[in-house]
Amino acid sequence: MERYDVIVLGGGLLGSSVAMHLAERGVGSIAVLDVDLGGRYSSSELNAGGVRATWRSPINVELSLASIEFYEGVRDEVGFDQKGYLWMYDAARWPAALEALAWQNATHGLGVRALTPDEIAAHCPLLDQLDGVAGATFSPRDGLLNPNLVKELYRARARASAATVRFENYSYVVAVDPEPDKVVVRALKFQEFSPAGARAIKAILCDAIPPEDAAAVKLTADVVVNCTGAWARRVAPLYGHVVPVRPVRRQIAIAHARDVDLRPYGMFVDPSGVYFHRESTHILAGWADPGEDDDFQFRYDGEAWFEDKIWPVLAARMSRCAQMRHRSGWAGLYEYTPDLCGVLGFAPGHERVVEAFGFTGRGAMQSWAAGRAAAELVTARRFETLDCSPLRPDRFADGALVHEALSI
Ligand SMILES: Cc1cc2nc3c(=O)[nH]c(=O)nc-3n(C[C@H](O)[C@H](O)[C@H](O)COP(=O)(O)OP(=O)(O)OC[C@H]3O[C@@H](n4cnc5c(N)ncnc54)[C@H](O)[C@@H]3O)c2cc1C
Repeated sequence: MERYDVIVLGGGLLGSSVAMHLAERGVGSIAVLDVDLGGRYSSSELNAGGVRATWRSPINVELSLASIEFYEGVRDEVGFDQKGYLWMYDAARWPAALEALAWQNATHGLGVRALTPDEIAAHCPLLDQLDGVAGATFSPRDGLLNPNLVKELYRARARASAATVRFENYSYVVAVDPEPDKVVVRALKFQEFSPAGARAIKAILCDAIPPEDAAAVKLTADVVVNCTGAWARRVAPLYGHVVPVRPVRRQIAIAHARDVDLRPYGMFVDPSGVYFHRESTHILAGWADPGEDDDFQFRYDGEAWFEDKIWPVLAARMSRCAQMRHRSGWAGLYEYTPDLCGVLGFAPGHERVVEAFGFTGRGAMQSWAAGRAAAELVTARRFETLDCSPLRPDRFADGALVHEALSI
């Protein structure tokens, strides 16, 4: 039976960040177990790469801001393109946006500016149809990054540390048994990448069907950190915690319009909720369909979805988008919690299990600071740099929800 100081369940952005921070804090041996370290169904590989500190609750601003300070220091390594968020509002929502802007600037010094429709058009002349837009906030410290590069940087730093760090691929965690002096983890280790392996990954992550011909492995650790994202709904019950995390499909389309080059800009958010930004010389655009069911569902609805939900909004906002060509797209999972905020803390009733999941739409931008906070809990048993107690896992049962009003 292999023994580690810490076992991290899930090797997405959160799990990789936790492993890096643990290694840099002097933890001697760490194992990261994942069904697929390549992450083909992980939210970390399927997101929009947006980074913003412009949240409306202190904990979300602080987690993002601390992470942004890190991304600024490694900007070339992670493709951090700090060209701001331009967030447009209709008249009904504009007063609250102005109130939030004043708070963000006074409390956190974010330097957010309010733009009139004329100033929006001056900022980006492509936005030449601003009907229904009362104003926009422009937040210069926000931007876009490459989540895959971020994840690889976390992993490289973990490996480069003095710690023994093992990233165990094709390992499906099926049991997590906390005992007084250790946690026993059981996993099914299946074949390396092959057509059969790819089918096994899909069957596990979409349908919870265990792999055939897998070898059962047993590991122990002093502490386990659960970073299984949307799959926390399945993994947390293994140690007796039924978590209110809901996997919800989110789709992203890639399209092209002649003479529309968004590369000089960062993220745009339309009052309709459609967000978009440059994807090389193309446009990446997404929208949260409120009618989505909870499901481990990855089907992309293709051109029909783009024509129905995305193109009308872009064409109404930018005349040059009247003619657009759909190129591709994908779907990934959001991990909804009741207050749409992340979960960070010891699992209720457990001293050896830390939870760090449910970062609904912000796991890329907050992964650095959230990973640090989880590593602090493991090594110091308390938050040392940033008090993340508002995200404690038992807040849902206690009714102590975080009030965050600016989720996409
Ligand atoms: C369409 C879309 C757009 C988004 N846009 C943004 C954005 O602009 N900015 C932003 O910050 N965030 C965004 N997000 C959210 C962000 O991607 C996630 O919050 C973040 O990636 C979560 O990382 P994670 O490591 O917690 O989870 P994941 O990346 O999902 O990793 C979980 C890992 O756990 C593994 N796993 C699951 N079950 C088991 C098991 N039993 N045994 C072993 N391994 C297991 C999985 O294989 C997976 O690799 C978006 C998400 C989506 C879907």
